[in-house]
This record gives sequence, C-alpha cells and structure tokens, in this order.
Amino acid sequence: MTIPYATFTTRPRKRLALIAHDNRKPDMLEWALANRDTLGQHELYATGTTGRLVAEALDLSVTRFLSGPYGGDQQVGAGIAEGRLDCVVFFWDPLETQPHDVDVKALLRIAVVYDCPIAWNRATADFILSSPLMAGIYERGPRAEANTG
Ligand code: PGA
Repeated sequence: MTIPYATFTTRPRKRLALIAHDNRKPDMLEWALANRDTLGQHELYATGTTGRLVAEALDLSVTRFLSGPYGGDQQVGAGIAEGRLDCVVFFWDPLETQPHDVDVKALLRIAVVYDCPIAWNRATADFILSSPLMAGIYERGPRAEANTG
C-alpha cells in the first residue's frame, strides 16, 4: 500500500490536540493550567467540550473540533493522517465504557500508523511537553514498510 505522505515535518510551534473524557476533564484542566506557558507556545486544538473548557481556563485560543462522541476523535485522527496535527494529549477514562470506544481505538491506531506522539495519561503528557523535541524540528511518518508495495 502506498501512503501519500512519506514524512511529516513538525515545526517548533506544534499543533497539539487535547481530548479529555468527562471524568478526566478536571485532570485535563489542572494539567493545562499547570502548563499554560508551554501550551501557549503551541497551536492548540481540541474536541468540542474539552476545547471550550481549556480555552476558558487558559484564556488562550483553541480551535475546536466536534465533541468526541459526535466525531471529534475521528477529526483528530484525520488531522494526524493529513499532517495537520503534530501531537495529541488524550486523558481517557479507563474505568468507564464510552459510547465512542471504537473511535478512541481508531485514533490510537492511526496515531501509531503515522508515528504521532500521543499521551494517554498525565505522566506521558508531562514527558512529551517537557521534551526538548517539542521546541525543535522533527521528521516523522508512517512505518517505512507501509510505503512499499
Ligand atoms: P469532548 O469530547 O471534549 O467534546 O467532551 C471528548 C471525548 O469524549 O472524546
């Protein structure tokens, strides 16, 4: 299978998508507030409700997709596949079944296919956000073998 884009170049100002399931929204807000200065250096995107809450709490501009259960997670996946997003922080709820579980699984899959950094919990989000790679140029792309044949 040939994939149209061999690699994506992520620039110092990353296009970062934020998503939080309902039970994790307080954690997302606390994390976002604690990292407001760093987040302000990047271009923020989010699913509907998460984006509204983060924009209000941080007083920063956040481009909002649809709400997660109504397709927002899939929009984030499309953004990864089309090279419009560089990084995802997804505080998901591992203790409650979500109506859009399949969308979450699809997002995980597409993030792995496109070698997109994705944090599923706060510690990983901290590691990603504090990485020196956040401030640099980084080449990433689909697995090499997926581009053959
Ligand atoms: P929301 O969607 O930000 O619109 O709540 C998040 C999700 O449940 O995936």
